[in-house]
Amino acid sequence: EQRFRSLSEKATDITIIMDAEGIFRFISPSVKRILGYLPQRTIGRSVFDTVHPDDCALITETLKKAIQNPRTSQSAFEYRVPHRNGSWCVLEAVATNLLHDPAVKGIVINCHDITQRKLAEAQLLHDAFHDGLTGLPNRALFIDRLEHALRLAKRRKDYLFAVLFLDLDRFKVVNDSLGHMIGDQLLVACARRLETCLRVGDTVARLGGDEFAILLEDIEGINEATNIANRLQQKITSPIVLDGHEVFITASIGIALSSVEYLEPINLLRDADTAMYRAKGLGRSCYEVFNSSMHAHALQLLQLENDLRRAAESIRDRPREEDELEEQFGGCKTSENSTKSPKSPLPPLSPTPQFIIHYQPIVSIATNKITSFEALVRWRHPERGLVSPIEFIPIAEETGLIVPLGRWVLRTACHQIRQWQQLFPCNPPLSVSVNLSVKQFSQPNLIEYIDQVLEENHLEGSSLKLEITESVLIENSESVTAMLVELRARNIHLCIDDFGTGYSSLSYLHRFPTNTLKIDRSFVSRMGVKFDISKGEIDPTEIVRSIVTLSHNLGMDVVAEGVEKASQLDLLKGLKCEYAQGYFFSKPIDSQTAAVLIQQQQQNQNLLTLS
Ligand code: C2E
Ligand code: MG
Ligand code: MG
Repeated sequence: EQRFRSLSEKATDITIIMDAEGIFRFISPSVKRILGYLPQRTIGRSVFDTVHPDDCALITETLKKAIQNPRTSQSAFEYRVPHRNGSWCVLEAVATNLLHDPAVKGIVINCHDITQRKLAEAQLLHDAFHDGLTGLPNRALFIDRLEHALRLAKRRKDYLFAVLFLDLDRFKVVNDSLGHMIGDQLLVACARRLETCLRVGDTVARLGGDEFAILLEDIEGINEATNIANRLQQKITSPIVLDGHEVFITASIGIALSSVEYLEPINLLRDADTAMYRAKGLGRSCYEVFNSSMHAHALQLLQLENDLRRAAESIRDRPREEDELEEQFGGCKTSENSTKSPKSPLPPLSPTPQFIIHYQPIVSIATNKITSFEALVRWRHPERGLVSPIEFIPIAEETGLIVPLGRWVLRTACHQIRQWQQLFPCNPPLSVSVNLSVKQFSQPNLIEYIDQVLEENHLEGSSLKLEITESVLIENSESVTAMLVELRARNIHLCIDDFGTGYSSLSYLHRFPTNTLKIDRSFVSRMGVKFDISKGEIDPTEIVRSIVTLSHNLGMDVVAEGVEKASQLDLLKGLKCEYAQGYFFSKPIDSQTAAVLIQQQQQNQNLLTLS
């Protein structure tokens, strides 16, 4: 008996003997250590008074089975009992009926405390379905809830739900400028704000990055979803103070409403995503409701993207033999070699590219002479013919294909301008403007590449103008400034393209070593057009005048884009704008036509000087 007592005191398990009614007859001393109770306080009480109310039925069932099957152990079951400290402990137990054994005369329950294991399992399960940063449900749980909603909608024809796909606008700017810590805090703050806009039973999940998805269950119709989208946007837009920084953020939302056509949750999410993209395209802080034409459009885009990938293959710089060897046998270049490498010749340009460059003249307003050309790329799509850059440049930027494409444009345009300089010498020589996208600026070897291209074509830096948009300056201002300074050191001209369409802030331009400002077509086209002062409208010519004056104050010259009429040109002349570009002079034209144009101009000029 002593041995038994000692064993049952130290045991990691609790042994219970109860009668057929569930009254405790014996409980091992280990209960004190595991649950905090003295064994004698439990003797005589009913098991049903000491377990979690939800587990009583399970205990009844187990006792019943044990009574029906004497001497055999029942399969293990789990139930909850209170610890003396008020928390719930989970016990794993096996019951054996020894009512007929004269030494026992009871049902024996062997219990093992599995609380810690259960907590760990619950934590793992939680982690598997929740986002670590915000604590919101993750994609997997969202899909699960969506599946559930779809099943419900199948059973109840009047059951409607909606999926909202929400993406923060320009989150990357916050992340890059204020750091990842603040970026993370912002995501958490947004998550909390989103939660406050929803009703009980709705789900907000973080899908990753700055993307959130919201499931609105049992709604009346689309209006309810758009009202909530409005509310979410308002909530997100109010400024957030993080670590002393006041941060403003907006969100674009796409909405997909449930319908019988949806069989898979992923399709609803896809369509809400498509609508979100459309909303982003419309400007920031918008929402859009999905319709099937958007899906067709998305498919077209995907097709275009695939075609563009293939097309980009036709212009990729093909590695020279030695580079090919190096690629095959690993980069075991010495440092001496690598410093020399930028000087080595570039690989040959592809002979049959799917792209072509059109050139649009930029004319000096004072002399009426072409001073340079803007290189504008077009895609010779095998089935669709010439595709506008407006259509494919955004895809190229998103997919990174802009990098090989941009390189090809730069090289081809520089090669062309060099040829024209030799064929049609003038003073100063003709120059070429090449558009550079934001993505190209994050390429670490951009400058080296430009050096190589200039060297290959024996071209002065001053013959090359690079056009960048305001967003390039805003989005990565420090690294970009360093890059711009290097470019200026090579005498390369820097132009701000499409001025007035982005941030339209002249105040920050002085921080960047830019030379030229190109006023966007939308301002030029409104010049001379009637306006209504009583409606608070401002004379568009006056807007252009202030841009020109401020640019001159900053030491920059001005190109007016999109000049289509003589009257616009006259006004620009009066404003002392230096250059003009537009259909009034010429549309973008292929290189042969451009060469004819230059030739004609030179002949006319010669005629003028002769006369
Ligand atoms: P952008 O750099 O502002 O180029 C001027 C655009 O305005 C050109 O459109 C040109 O055809 C158009 N344009 C010029 N004059 C007039 C006019 O009088 N009236 C009207 N209505 N339009 C005029 P395009 O060639 O379709 O190019 C569109 C945009 O695509 C360019 O705008 C530029 O942002 C981008 N792009 C073109 N080529 C390249 C490239 O090689 N690389 C990059 N990154 N972007 C490019
Ligand atoms: Mg441009
Ligand atoms: Mg432009």
